[in-house]
This record gives sequence, C-alpha cells and structure tokens, in this order.
Amino acid sequence: ALVRPPGHHALSDRAMGFCFVNNVAVAAEMLLRRGLAERIAIYDFDVHHGNGTQAIFYDRKDVLYLSTHQHPFYPGTGMAKETGEGPGEGTTVNVPLPSGTTDATLDEVTRSLLIPKVRAFAPDVILLSAGFDGYVGDPLGGFELTPSGFHAVVGRFRDLAESVADGRIVGVLEGGYALDGLGACVRAALYAFEGRTL
Ligand code: ZN
Repeated sequence: ALVRPPGHHALSDRAMGFCFVNNVAVAAEMLLRRGLAERIAIYDFDVHHGNGTQAIFYDRKDVLYLSTHQHPFYPGTGMAKETGEGPGEGTTVNVPLPSGTTDATLDEVTRSLLIPKVRAFAPDVILLSAGFDGYVGDPLGGFELTPSGFHAVVGRFRDLAESVADGRIVGVLEGGYALDGLGACVRAALYAFEGRTL
C-alpha cells in the first residue's frame, strides 16, 4: 500500500509526526473486527519508533507490535523495557539501535530476535510498517541501510508469512525522504514480496 502521508506516529485521537491516520493500525483493527484474523503481527522497520501503533495496541494480546528503530531519536519512545501492559504484556517488542546501523545488524536482529517472537505468537496475518527512512542517504534518519538490506528483511518476513500465516502479508508505506533512493528501496521490497532477487 503506497500511502502518503505515513501513519505510525498517529495516535487514536491525535495527529503526530507527519501522520494523520494510523493506516496500519486501522488495517489491523478492521481485520480483527471483521473476523478475518485473530492474531496480527506488525513489524515496523521505519527508522523512527512507531509510537502511535505501539500505544494503540499496548494493552492488547491479539496484536504483536515489533519495532527496530534509531535510538535516541524522534519521537523518544521505543525503549526495550516497553513491552506492553496488562493482557498485552509481552506483545510489544522494541529493538532500539544506534545511528549507523547497517544491513548486517538489521538482518542479525531479524533472524535472532524478531522471527522467533513472531513464530511464537503465530499470527494469522503479518503487516509491515514499511518505512524506508533508514536508507543510507535519507536526510532524516541516521541508519545506513541499502536496498539490498530492505530486500533481505522483507524477504525473511515473506518467508515467515509463508510458514506461519498461510502467506498473508501486507506492506504499508511509512516514512522515506530521500527521493533519489526511495524508489530503489520500494522496488527492492516489492521484489522480495515476489521472491525475486535484486
Ligand atoms: Zn520515519
């Protein structure tokens, strides 16, 4: 879903950080309310923490929210100790990473930490908050990710969806502000969805 503006900072009652409507949260809630899914995993790889998505589902046991993001950085949330509350305890997973994070680090975190969490949760659907402002040339983010790195992480989640969610996975565009690199990053993600090499 090539949506603009992005959504993951928007709270249920307030716009924030370029975001008016939390697109991925609306999608998750609609899938659940319409009985199309019972458990949903959202992985947010935007360079910023998706504070809105986290807040909306913080006490929910039917939505697993996972985020890798630059820290310390806007909006300031997303510390590892933020893990959910009440019935949602354990259904929020934050992996704050330093400025300069590379493809190799993101892949290691994905394999060793994110994928096991999603497998254990056994979602019906996986949603990706697909922000590309972790791209090395992005004017806002400090990560050093490349189209190859985005291709790898999306490919791992596509394979994961095949094995745990009957192939049901949706990518929803979040941030991405380097206009000369955004196209290559989005194309890399689309190729990964198709199982194509770069
Ligand atoms: Zn962002």
